[in-house]
Amino acid sequence: MKLTPRAPEVKAIVEILQSDDYETPEAMAKAVIKEVAEILAMRETWYALVIKGGAKAVNFGPYASDAEVKQVAAKVAGAAPEFHIARMGGSGLLAARLEGYNKRKWTNFCATCTHAKDLHLTDGNSRARCALECSCQAYKDGG
Ligand SMILES: [Zn+2]
Ligand SMILES: [Zn+2]
Repeated sequence: MKLTPRAPEVKAIVEILQSDDYETPEAMAKAVIKEVAEILAMRETWYALVIKGGAKAVNFGPYASDAEVKQVAAKVAGAAPEFHIARMGGSGLLAARLEGYNKRKWTNFCATCTHAKDLHLTDGNSRARCALECSCQAYKDGG
């Protein structure tokens, strides 16, 4: 998986590394691993190489970019009978969009209601209100 660390992601790990909250290096390492897992689960777009072949077929991924998965697909083009590339969201993203997520600022969630910013309506009388019936009007003035 070739991924480019994003500034807020690096910041979250640096906060752990500079914290005095951990008794042992092992405890800090566990915190770093859990943080990285959550960071990756909250990424918007991943790719998978899906091999067609019924229940016994093994799919591969996630890959961090379209270019990366296409590179792998080119390599297996002769070996795999049939395959396609699937786009997918991080494993934590769907729950976060429905339930709200305010732990960090990098994932486009409303700081007021914690729902995804793009769930705030954009037309008619409902303009700027959150679509999840929380009455949030954080983007009423176009913010
Ligand atoms: Zn909301
Ligand atoms: Zn909101």
